[in-house]
Amino acid sequence: MTVLGIETSCDETAAAVVRGPAEKQILSNVVRSQIDDHTAFGGVVPEIAARAHIKVLDGIIAEALSRADCGWDDIDAVAATAGPGLIGGVIVGFMTAKAIAMASGKPIIAVNHLEGHALTARLTDDLPFPFLLLLVSGGHSQFLLVRGVGDYERLGTTIDDAIGEAFDKTAKLLGLPYPGGPAVEHMALAGDAGRFKLPRPLLDRPGLDMSFAGLKTALRTQAKKLEPIDDQTIADLCAGFQKAVADVLAARTKAALQLFGERHPDVPPTLVVAGGVAANQEIRTSLQAATAAAQADFIAPPMALCTDNAAMIAWAGIERLVLGPVDDMALPPRPRWPLDATKAAVLGAGK
Ligand code: ATP
Ligand code: MG
Ligand code: FE
Repeated sequence: MTVLGIETSCDETAAAVVRGPAEKQILSNVVRSQIDDHTAFGGVVPEIAARAHIKVLDGIIAEALSRADCGWDDIDAVAATAGPGLIGGVIVGFMTAKAIAMASGKPIIAVNHLEGHALTARLTDDLPFPFLLLLVSGGHSQFLLVRGVGDYERLGTTIDDAIGEAFDKTAKLLGLPYPGGPAVEHMALAGDAGRFKLPRPLLDRPGLDMSFAGLKTALRTQAKKLEPIDDQTIADLCAGFQKAVADVLAARTKAALQLFGERHPDVPPTLVVAGGVAANQEIRTSLQAATAAAQADFIAPPMALCTDNAAMIAWAGIERLVLGPVDDMALPPRPRWPLDATKAAVLGAGK
């Protein structure tokens, strides 16, 4: 089947056409980032995001169809992010999808944005359930046990800032541009990670939860002491911060893989990493080392599919559709929609 996907939950307006489940073919994948609209404000402004989605979404959908060489007749269903995310943007994308579905008589599939991230590795690789997912983005930092479509268990999460958010805030306080992740990574290349002693929050406690707000505060305190800070100090702080995050993730990954082994002793373990923070080379290397030490496989989908995109939404739609008919026309857009509640929502209990 061929599915049109639409994604508008944050600061990317995206549409894609994907064919599957057997073909696993991305016929088109159009993403328009709004970074330029938000840079002046040092972060995503929800109102600006929603307006920008309205302005460009029709054109992005038309482009996705044309690049895929598809007309409406070639599309079997429309899948759109129905949450979680910035509600203005979600409304724009999901309502557009409903309108298309109604006008064309195609089914609509309400996709949980996190489920899109969670299932991407099954589009790019032959990956059976269950597997372990580490989602690290601007809005989320969590370990998920992915047992099947709509069957997720959150094993651990950040209790305060998401990692991408911590990178963005750290960049801001050091005077680096938005988005902070790439800027901090670039500065860290010239830095000495050992110069400042920064905490590894929560690591002294069992479980898989994480915390990054204290790390950012510790960095702020160090930076304040040395004001005005020179470029070398900024580089050293960036390197120290990045190393602390990588260490925390590596330690929690080891514990998560151990838990996975206890739950599924007969399944060869695989760690899939998704989200914008997965672009960070030091974090990738440290995750790779942690998985190798636990004799687990490591999958990081290509960057363009790790960050927000609509191919992952179309693919999640296909995975849903394969399981049977869906009718999500009555579902409202949701600003919050925990992944472990997807099953209930799909069955109609969560409405
Ligand atoms: P979500 O998907 O949770 O709704 P989002 O749309 O903000 O949130 P993504 O687009 O997946 O998430 O990722 C953006 C985040 O990734 C930003 O916080 C950005 O700073 C971070 N990021 C991007 N590149 C890097 C990098 N090289 N190192 C660290 N962080 C990075
Ligand atoms: Mg984004
Ligand atoms: Fe995302």
